[in-house]
Amino acid sequence: MARLHRGNRDLIREINRNLVLNFIKSHGPISRTDIAHLSSLSLATVSSITADFIASGLVHEMGEGESTGGRRPVLLRLNYRAGFVVGVKLMEQAVASALTDLDAHVLHHWVTPLEDQRSLAAVQEVIAAAVEATIAASQVKRQRVLGIGIGLAGVVDGEAGMCHYSPFFGWRNVQFAQPLADHFGLPVYLENDVNTLTIAEQWFGYGHGVDHFVVATVGRGIGAGIVVNGQFYRGALGGAGEFGHITLTTDGPPCGCGKRGCLETLASDPAVVRQARAAIALGEQTALVGVEPLTLEDIVAAAEAGDKLAQRLLADSGRWLGLGIATLVNILNPQLIIVGGEGVRAGEWRFGPMREAIRQHAFDSLADDLDIIIEPAGDETWARGAACVVLGELFKPPAHKGKATDLMAAMA
Ligand SMILES: [Zn+2]
Repeated sequence: MARLHRGNRDLIREINRNLVLNFIKSHGPISRTDIAHLSSLSLATVSSITADFIASGLVHEMGEGESTGGRRPVLLRLNYRAGFVVGVKLMEQAVASALTDLDAHVLHHWVTPLEDQRSLAAVQEVIAAAVEATIAASQVKRQRVLGIGIGLAGVVDGEAGMCHYSPFFGWRNVQFAQPLADHFGLPVYLENDVNTLTIAEQWFGYGHGVDHFVVATVGRGIGAGIVVNGQFYRGALGGAGEFGHITLTTDGPPCGCGKRGCLETLASDPAVVRQARAAIALGEQTALVGVEPLTLEDIVAAAEAGDKLAQRLLADSGRWLGLGIATLVNILNPQLIIVGGEGVRAGEWRFGPMREAIRQHAFDSLADDLDIIIEPAGDETWARGAACVVLGELFKPPAHKGKATDLMAAMA
């Protein structure tokens, strides 16, 4: 028999290590014998691998399990504080960052304002400073930080670390991740921001254990994250879920994307503000006259106080949003829609009419058992989701890994 090539031997060992690590993560506390049984690896292989894990601090021995007659086996569990990751949400006016342990538990959360920084280099500098501040404030050792995940609005190629289009900053086809990876000497993962919220929902939110769901976000923009068959769906170019740019009226207002009548131009927060200004200019009676700068908060407050224009505009935006979501329902047939983003503060003024429109426009019975949850998740949840992108990579089997560090190698 031909001797196994050294590269293959290393790969097999790495695959086995990953297998054992994931058994400890998902089944721990667990004995070596049970890992061997579940993984079909020999007890000697399992013992050798777990000895390395214990020496590096990645796995702890604890208590003793049920005896099956002989000596009680020692149980192993993952040491979630052996390593840490940082998740970042890049917004138009601020950078939210969160440092988590290997179980995605947030140790520290931080918000850094973005003022007039708009160039790629200036924004990267703010992100670098925000990550540094987050690590410093959480008091974990710098060498224990294993990677950084960044969520931003737009079309993103996570593999290449490229941002193909950023609607907030106007960047096109820029290398986003590499300069930060060089700065920190760590892998940096890029992901669409709605996708990071979707991952957060899938790992520890309403989407946990749900096979088919959509996270729709409304705020400055409108977007969606899609989970089909329990798998996250990105599309060929990473652009899946850009449903804020489905055309609802061909002669509608111009959109930042260059087209007209996109859902975003009718139903986003800035669209509602623009519609209010237009109505005021036409002399409509409203408490919003003279309010400057006019924000969605002002419009929601006016609606609460009984202002008819404010109520009508929020309801209109909800109906447009519902029309867009009904289209998603007809294409994807999800069990659950989670609505998030800063625009959820408009409450039932917007989401009552949205629910009605979904029921009205969804095909046949597709909306009958559809759960719709309004999720007021803050920026921290988005940043935590960006951290989960890194954690997902760290625990991935080697064959599916991109640039991810081997967890063990990183711990050494
Ligand atoms: Zn558009």
